[in-house]
Amino acid sequence: MANMQMNKTPMPEQEPQVRNHNFLEVAQGYTAEQAVNEAKRCIHCKNPACVSGCPVGIPIPDFLAKVAEEDFAAAYEILSNANALPAISGRVCPQENQCEGKCVRGVKGEPVAIGRVERFVADWAAEQGIANVATAPKNGHKVAVIGSGPAGLTCAGELARMGYSVTVFEAFHTAGGVLTYGIPEFRLPKAIVAREVDNLVKMGVDIELNMVIGKILTIPEIFERGYEAVFIASGAGLPMFMKIPGEGLVGVYSANEYLTRINLMKAYKEGSPTPILHNQKVAVVGGGNVAMDAARCAKRLGAEVHIIYRRSEAELPARAEEVHHAKEEGIIFDLLTNPVSIEGDEKGHVQSLTCIRMELGEPDASGRRRPVPVEGSEFKVEADAVIMALGTSPNPMSTKGTEGLEKTRKGCVAADESGKTSLEGVYAGGDAATGAATVILAMGAGKYAAKSIDEYIKSKG
Ligand code: FAD
Ligand code: SF4
Repeated sequence: MANMQMNKTPMPEQEPQVRNHNFLEVAQGYTAEQAVNEAKRCIHCKNPACVSGCPVGIPIPDFLAKVAEEDFAAAYEILSNANALPAISGRVCPQENQCEGKCVRGVKGEPVAIGRVERFVADWAAEQGIANVATAPKNGHKVAVIGSGPAGLTCAGELARMGYSVTVFEAFHTAGGVLTYGIPEFRLPKAIVAREVDNLVKMGVDIELNMVIGKILTIPEIFERGYEAVFIASGAGLPMFMKIPGEGLVGVYSANEYLTRINLMKAYKEGSPTPILHNQKVAVVGGGNVAMDAARCAKRLGAEVHIIYRRSEAELPARAEEVHHAKEEGIIFDLLTNPVSIEGDEKGHVQSLTCIRMELGEPDASGRRRPVPVEGSEFKVEADAVIMALGTSPNPMSTKGTEGLEKTRKGCVAADESGKTSLEGVYAGGDAATGAATVILAMGAGKYAAKSIDEYIKSKG
């Protein structure tokens, strides 16, 4: 019988005033008993809306049924056949807009906590040493993947499963893309990313690190090495700035640089050779997940942290859970506020920002109400660091030396839904083709590209 409890089974978490001093994982995961209790909240709809909300099409009610029966091994098999990175997506996917956003239990209460149960199943399998790494016999065809973020890893995993020999070329010295260099340890422990990458290696995927495509090798040179198709999954790592005075001062970071120092280069650890400023008062400009991650890192490094966002709380693009966690941890939100300049001291270090108050006007092209400056409302905010978290665009490096590859106006590789680009045998997906999406959309793009690469290679005979 279904469990008709209205709310999700709560997830144990570290206390806010404890966790804001450490980098250990905030959410601590369900016990088996909690996972079973939550899985029993699924009423097994005839037309499960949750599945249509999942970009990788996980048969959600089927894996929940197995968890409810306490058959966790069967649940893992169902889950991992559809989703190459369940421990990751269970932790960081925006389920509230996807599967859980569509769950009918959400109409009169809270939806089934699909992500939390997914995370439980993936962690349970890892603890048992179970990994779904079966592959078809090698088919003699070679495919190259550029970038090892969720799009690249998913594409590589799907192709390896079909029997392809896959090489992933990654620019950094560690695989994982944003999962490794962007999302902090306290949301996504790096050991989990390493475990998922390791599973791909067990499937025979060759991961070549420190390989900056466009610099060390071009895409035409990859083809010359006998690869029959190339999937570009090089993400959107190029940060944007506001183009206001003072952005060149010491203490102004892009969120990408700040998070890369902390996460990839482990600057938060005592004795790390990577320098990071331990500031008194940090202003983080922006309101997305990236801004929340940067703010929560700065808080853990000991600063008073302000989020400066030009719209109101209702328009914050970050996941509701991340905003909630940030507030609990003591991050201060300065809403309807926008910086107009940054001022420094005589040594060129950030000292303050000048901000202006904003009000909301008519909706703009994005459908959100346009922020309008309130004339004469400028005021100063003291800060010794400013982190710009304003969005990113695709880094053009990976496609250098590749003639005839069409780009969109925003600099993304132009690709259709199956990942096909203007060049034969070249596919693109994830943030390289969209600018900025989410982990699960990037994985979906990797999955569909793998399918079309398979069709393309088979069509050539
Ligand atoms: P990426 O993850 O960016 O991976 C691209 C990889 O390609 C990188 O490893 C890069 O080093 C490599 N590369 C780049 N150029 C080259 C080259 N020339 N040669 C070789 N390799 C190259 N989404 C969510 O769903 N939930 C979240 O909570 C969330 N939080 C986020 C927090 C932060 C701080 C950031 C930055 C993003 C967040 N996102 C989140 C968005 C999500 O991480 C991205 O949409 C997703 O990672 C995109 O995947 P991808 O594989 O396309 O690219
Ligand atoms: Fe279960 Fe919700 Fe999906 Fe229905 S929509 S099958 S209740 S998870």
